[in-house]
Amino acid sequence: MIDASSPSPAQGDNPLLADWTTPFRAPPFGAIRPEHFAPAFDTALARHRGEVAAIAAEAATPTFGNTIGALERSGRTLSRVSAAFFALVAAHSNDALLGIERDIVPRLAAHWDAIYMNQALFRRIEALRRDQSGLDAEEARVLDRYFVTFRRAGAGLDAAARGRLAEIGERLAVLGTQFSQRVLADEQGYTLPLNTEDELAGLPAHVVEATREAARERGLASPGAVTLARSSVEPFLQFSRRRDLREKAFRAWIARGEGGASDNRPVIAEMVRLRSEKARLLGYPTWAHYRLDDAMAKTPEAARGLLSKVWAPARRRALADRDAMQEMIRAEGGNFALAPWDWRYYAEKLRRERCDLGEGEIEPYLGLDRMIEAAFETARRLFGITVTPRNDVPVWHPDVRAWEVRAPDGRHLGLFFGDYFARPSKRSGAWMSTLREQDKLDGEVRPLVFNVMNFSKGRDGELVLISFEDARTLFHEFGHALHALLSDVTYPLISGTGVATDFVELPSQLYEHWLETPEILKAFATHHRTGEPMPDALIAKLRAARTFNQGFTTVEYVASAIVDLDFHSLEKADGLDAAAFERAALDRIGMPEEIVMRHRPPHFSHVFAGDHYSAGYYSYMWSEVLDADAFNAFQETGNVFDRATAERLYRYVYSAGGSRAPDDAYTAFRGRLPTEEALLKRRGLTEAAPAP
Ligand SMILES: [Zn+2]
Repeated sequence: MIDASSPSPAQGDNPLLADWTTPFRAPPFGAIRPEHFAPAFDTALARHRGEVAAIAAEAATPTFGNTIGALERSGRTLSRVSAAFFALVAAHSNDALLGIERDIVPRLAAHWDAIYMNQALFRRIEALRRDQSGLDAEEARVLDRYFVTFRRAGAGLDAAARGRLAEIGERLAVLGTQFSQRVLADEQGYTLPLNTEDELAGLPAHVVEATREAARERGLASPGAVTLARSSVEPFLQFSRRRDLREKAFRAWIARGEGGASDNRPVIAEMVRLRSEKARLLGYPTWAHYRLDDAMAKTPEAARGLLSKVWAPARRRALADRDAMQEMIRAEGGNFALAPWDWRYYAEKLRRERCDLGEGEIEPYLGLDRMIEAAFETARRLFGITVTPRNDVPVWHPDVRAWEVRAPDGRHLGLFFGDYFARPSKRSGAWMSTLREQDKLDGEVRPLVFNVMNFSKGRDGELVLISFEDARTLFHEFGHALHALLSDVTYPLISGTGVATDFVELPSQLYEHWLETPEILKAFATHHRTGEPMPDALIAKLRAARTFNQGFTTVEYVASAIVDLDFHSLEKADGLDAAAFERAALDRIGMPEEIVMRHRPPHFSHVFAGDHYSAGYYSYMWSEVLDADAFNAFQETGNVFDRATAERLYRYVYSAGGSRAPDDAYTAFRGRLPTEEALLKRRGLTEAAPAP
């Protein structure tokens, strides 16, 4: 826990710089205070600079060991200070941490740019590339990744270009932090209070309970409240009979990052302009070309090709559903056109009608703890790992839980932390990250891996029920966690999730498939009161309903992915009006008026809170082509836990990190590359697929 009021400690007492004697050398969160970070970063950065300078100045002829090996060994202090800091600032921040973030993020950008543009280092790496004899496959891959990283940072350019790139890098870091802090401020600053029975009309018991907990947690006078966390606002939109309140909540939700002091549109304009300039300096026509050159897709055209294949059938399906819902409104005597804040509400009614299934029917079977166990059991059946709770490991908030993960032979594999509940100090969304990554450079280092979710918390001590969508998210993030936990490579650079952005969603999205299997549902989806397993009929309905509303889901996702690519396909982006650009981009693709993008640009953190998913939001669908095809590999054997298939999956995907190029890794697993067929079929978007 973080106590911001304590006095400044002496440097020698800084727990971030001391040896960690905690179990598994986990960060001693109980002893870490915000004021420890600035001096720890200073020390860590200085140490790393010294290490890198020594490598660059090495008199001996470049060898893999004295250059790449040495770089891989450098910066250990910085890694652990950074990991602890970014875990906290995202999952449990406060004003002090947010202030440090504003200061440190641009400094880190400058620090890494200076390394990746270092001329002496680059010359050593180039020399090593000329003669690769004696390197094993992993070493050759790591060397290649270093070369690509240096080249893509601008190491091969003249001094003037490098100087400008460094300026751009620092400024982008400032802007990315500003972007995410403004979204957080808007999310913290808004609640829709629910005071009367009438304002709760239509909400199932578990949603009512979640609104109560949200009000309690924020210290509101009202008995209930809706917040802008997806897991709070979406169920409200789905169930609330109060059309006026749905509109209020929806408008606030989609306006995050757009109002007054937290208007992100100028931030977007500047970021897009700087990214475009950076791409040109590096010899690419646009930022999208630059980003995708190092991805599995290789070109923006390839990414767009996939998105447009999906767009037309998805849009057709969505418009047909819209018409059905409009007809429903008319039949009820409603005298209004379906609006975006009505979609989820009427889709829920349509679902009940078509699939004989309401979302509220499923939740009583989805206890959070049971779903966590289900995710663990899936990993046990696939990879033989076992998971046991650890209560002796320090955590960053009392809600966080820790487990030790062991290999089939009992060997320690790593620690897994789960931080499941929404709170005001947490960013929205769900993510996986690490406090330490796996490597074997100097003996085995095992990882510390965590998942963060934003599920609504029940009353203290009461069982928490989650939606099927939430359970899917839980499986998704645990799939990422396994990618880090099972990692078995030598070099930190390619450890765990150190793979291309459009490949990194394969282990996570693939993992979601097991949630839907009768094997897992029958065993873990048990009724919270009666303990009875989910009936076969309900499982069948749930699986049949899988393609329901896929038109909407696909449209809201693909629209975001296209707009992301559009922003980053500008050859010149001076004087960009982000709002007008968004409207024009949506007009071009014929966005249905009743659907709003899954992430509108002013709160599109994937793309603007940092570079990682910029021009890369398409990655989820790219990876879905892989995961739909990969799950077929199991289904084709007639056993979704087939041992031989799981063994190949472990070897070439979950344990392999970035030790192979993504195409090679997938081909090694499957014997070939996938086509889009399995994806379209799964989403129910093939021409032949009937509407559910
Ligand atoms: Zn993911």
